[in-house]
Parts: sequence; structure tokens; C-alpha cells
Amino acid sequence: MKQVIEQHSLKGMAASPGIIIGRAVVLQKDKLDIKPVPVSSTEVQKEINEFNQAIARVKKDLLNMSAAVSKRLGSDYARIFETQAMIADDPVINAKVVELIEKENLQGAYLYYQQIDEVVKQLSRSSDRYLKERILDINSVCNRLIRVLQGAKKSVVQETKGPTVVIAKYLSPADLLGFSVRKTVGFALELGGVTSHTSLLAKSLNLPAIVGIGSDLNKINTGNRVIMDGYSGKLIVNPRPDMRQRFRDRRKTLANINLQLDKIKDEPALTRDGHRLKVYNNIELPAETGRILKSGAEGIGLFRTEYLYLADNAIPDFDKQYKAYKSVLSKMSGNPVLIRTFDMGGDKFAVDDVQAVDPNPFLGWRAIRFCLDRPQVFKTQLKALLKASVHGNMGIMLPMISNLDELLEVKDIIGQCRVELAGENIKTRDNIPLGIMIEVPSAVMIAEHLAQEVDFFSIGTNDLIQYTLAVDRTNKMLTHLYQSFHPAVLKMIVKSIAAGHKYDIKVGLCGEMASDPYAIIILAGMGIDELSTSYLSTGMVKQIIRNIDIEKARDMAAKACSLKSSSQVEAYLVKEVNANFPEILPIIDFIKGANNG
Ligand code: PEP
Ligand code: MG
Repeated sequence: MKQVIEQHSLKGMAASPGIIIGRAVVLQKDKLDIKPVPVSSTEVQKEINEFNQAIARVKKDLLNMSAAVSKRLGSDYARIFETQAMIADDPVINAKVVELIEKENLQGAYLYYQQIDEVVKQLSRSSDRYLKERILDINSVCNRLIRVLQGAKKSVVQETKGPTVVIAKYLSPADLLGFSVRKTVGFALELGGVTSHTSLLAKSLNLPAIVGIGSDLNKINTGNRVIMDGYSGKLIVNPRPDMRQRFRDRRKTLANINLQLDKIKDEPALTRDGHRLKVYNNIELPAETGRILKSGAEGIGLFRTEYLYLADNAIPDFDKQYKAYKSVLSKMSGNPVLIRTFDMGGDKFAVDDVQAVDPNPFLGWRAIRFCLDRPQVFKTQLKALLKASVHGNMGIMLPMISNLDELLEVKDIIGQCRVELAGENIKTRDNIPLGIMIEVPSAVMIAEHLAQEVDFFSIGTNDLIQYTLAVDRTNKMLTHLYQSFHPAVLKMIVKSIAAGHKYDIKVGLCGEMASDPYAIIILAGMGIDELSTSYLSTGMVKQIIRNIDIEKARDMAAKACSLKSSSQVEAYLVKEVNANFPEILPIIDFIKGANNG
């Protein structure tokens, strides 16, 4: 008898905006059944034919995926799927499986799984990082093949033809890239935080996502009706017709809001009383550049270059980097582009087995620490940046600076790179602004010293919050403690802005906090010069700024900093916005998902 499950609603964190009303496809429940199943001697040839056909199918699916991803994001990002197609085509493994089907009279799925298991075991013992990283790809190919052999008519990506919400524990960047070829697909994940790299990539790819929902997700089955709201973080399972109607209405409201935002997107971010801010965008992939200026942003406030690693699962060489930086700079036609040097480590693309040796990656061998430890990697990046500098208006930004010596050492290395490039007759721009991310409390405390050595600051609140409050930004159990409005965080921001302004340098902010409507108001009041967000938030940020008064925002910022807790600050901001800026309430209500589910 079919089980009827009542409508219920799950809550996670809104990681990437968008509303999907569709069906669930559950990834982790598709457990592979890989027991040895005998094949009678008369069926052996049929089994071999089916195995060969399945291999051909998987290969074809992967090459199709590669073509689709290449069209959308560029050929570099399609390479993951080409590699997987090559794995599926491995002549040695495939021949061995055919031989074993004949010899042992067992089904191909089990024998293939056994072969792959053996390869994976060998690779995990290897000290070669590249080989080890192939394990994920090999397992992914194996899962695909077994699904086909077990009679799945379509690949998981094909199953998502209608509006679909993919339910999974966790997804890798490659999984997201694969799904990016579908139009209406969203993600509801058991794990993760809004600033984890999967969430940031989902935003870049414009795929709605909710993360950190927890184990309640296990109750959902493939085919269940679901509604996901990537604005409020709600996932509604088996919604009744009235609920579906409510969300269809909500989508209409969204369309109206977007229409209004579209009208003002090219207007300046100017408060009602004439205070001007800049709105920039963050990018992860060079392919996103085309939409930045169209979204109304005036520049790129953060290019996370570590995502170049995604294309090859390895640090890109000089030419590839130069090509990527040049393409972004040229497309931005003279508008500012702040390119951040590699922020490897933490939860992003650990290299050289760093995960194995780094017991606490967020406090470990990350970002500038990794780069200074690998001068060749760092110099290759800096030289590619310097060479690309002639193609646009570039600034170089350094992540996770925690002391002055690191900064002075980088300046010295940049000097060496310039001399080496000049020796090769490679032209570079003379005055390339150099800036640092302010993301570690120690950098805030010595911000006045740092400010005298750089041309700009960009406050990275995703990390500044986690390091100030000792709360892992990806840990779902600590979400309630990851507080953007904690007075300690607010005071850190105020101190950083004051230090920057004392030495006449611009101070921007490029963490996710820059797209919170309440935060935007007090950040403006604190004197932030520039906010950098996902392109999806550009219009909203401008709309908020254009409907506030800087004098009032200054009062609110000062008062917020004097309060004693995050909850006090939040309650205060809600009260003040209601009283002073009613024009922005519809947009805030929408984003916060008031009255829905
Ligand atoms: C930040 O820490 O706020 C930031 C923008 O950097 P990332 O999220 O890449 O660590
Ligand atoms: Mg950071």
C-alpha cells in the first residue's frame, strides 16, 4: 500500500536564492546493490553484451554532459566529465570484467564493483595526490555504471527534467557542475554552511540551495512533491494544494520585485541624503564575468582564484592563469577587478594531502600561509597576475593575513616577480593596487599598521565571524552561534574601517554579510565604501541603499555596537527599519520568507 506522508516542513540555511516547486530526487538513498548474482551458462553472452552496452551508455552520457558544461561554463570545467568518460572506457578493467563474467558466471555489476574497489584501495595507499583525487571520479563512474546495469533508464541528471530538488547529504563541486546544465534544479543538503564552498558555487551557478537541514532529510523519497525556498531556507515536503498555491504566489511576488530591481539596477548606490557607496560582485568562475556589468555592479570585489583549481583538480599553470585573468579583466572594460591570490585549505580544495596532515584546516595551512610556503606556486600566480595587469583595472588582494611580516614578505616577492618579468621583456602595469582581506581578529587589532602598507582593505566576514567567535563556518551544529550581528563582530568591522580611513584607503566588505538587508544599513552607517556580493543580490543591495538616509544609518550602527548581544541588535534593527525605512520592508519580508510555510 502506498504510504501517504503528511505535509511537513524542514528548515535549513538559505544558501542560494530561488524557489522550486517540483519533485525530489534523492541521491544518497540510491544505494547500490552489489551482491554476487549467478548467471546461467546460457545467459553469459547476454550478460557480456549488457555490460558492454552499459559501458557505452555511461561513456556517451558523460561526453554529453561534458559538451553541455563546456557550452555553459567553458571547456576547462568540462574536463572533469571527459576524465570520467576515460575511466569508463578503461580497456584493462573492462576486459577483465568480461573475462570474469565468462569464468565465474556472475553478473557484471558485481564484478565491475569488485575491480573498482581494488583500484580504489590501491589508489588510497598511493602518495600521489593526483592519483588519489581520481578516487572520487572512479567511484562516481562506478555508481553510474551499476545504476545502468540495474536497469535505471536515465542518469540522475536526466531524471531531473522537470523542476527538481536534489536531496543529498553533501555534493561535490563536480556534482554541482554536472547539474548546472539543467534549468530548474535546486539542492537540499543535509550538511554544509552558507559560506561553504559548495554553497558559494551554487550561487555562482545560479542553482537554488538550502544547506544544513540535518538528518530529517532522510524521510524524503524520490518522487515526493517538494517546494524549496532558497530565500528562507524552507523545504516543504508533500505540500497540500493551498501551500503550492501560496508558493506560486510567492514566485509572482518575486517576479514583481525583480522587475522593480531591474529598473534601478544601473542607478548609483546613493542614499536618499546623497551618500555614495559602490556595489561590486564576487565571482568564482571566469565564465561568470559576462553577467557582472549587466547586473548593475560597478566592478568585481572578489575573484576567488582558487576555483580555477576545479577545472583540473590541480593548480593551473602560468599560461592558464594568465588567460583566465586576462579574460576577466578585458571583459570588465576598465572597471575595478580585485583578484584574490589562492585561498587553498580550510574547506576549499586542499592540496598535497594537506587534509591528511592538517588536523584543523581552518586554523592551519591555508591561504597566504600555503602560498608563502610554496614560493613557486605563489610566484607563478603573481607573475600571471602582473602580466595580465595591462588588460584592465586590476587590484591584487591577499587572503587571511594575520601579521605584518606576511604582508611585507609578499611585497618583497611581488618586487622579485616584477624584476624577473622585466628580464623576460614582459610588460606590467606600474601601480597595481595591493590590498588585504581583513578576516582574522589579529589583523583587525593591527589594522592601523597594515593600512600603511596597502592600498585597500576588504573585510571577509565569512571568516572574520568564524575566527572572532571561534565558530566553524561550515558546522551545522553551531549555526545559532555563527552570528553576523554579534557586537564583537560589529566592533571588529568598525575598527577595521576606522583604521583604513585613517590612512586614506578604501575599505570594502565581500563576505555574505554584504547581502543581508539589515547588515547593509549598518555597514553603510559604519562608513563602508564598497559592498561586494553575488550578482544575484546587486539590485537588492542598491534598492536598500537608495531607500535609507546615511545620518539615520550612522545612528543605528553606533547604537547596534553598544548593545550587548546579537539578539538585541537584531531586535533593534527590525524595530528601526519598521519605523524609519518602510519602503524596504517588502523586500526584507520576501528575503526572510515571512508568512510562508
Ligand atoms: C570571507 O571570508 O568573507 C571571504 C569573502 O572569503 P571566503 O568566503 O572565500 O573565505
Ligand atoms: Mg575568507
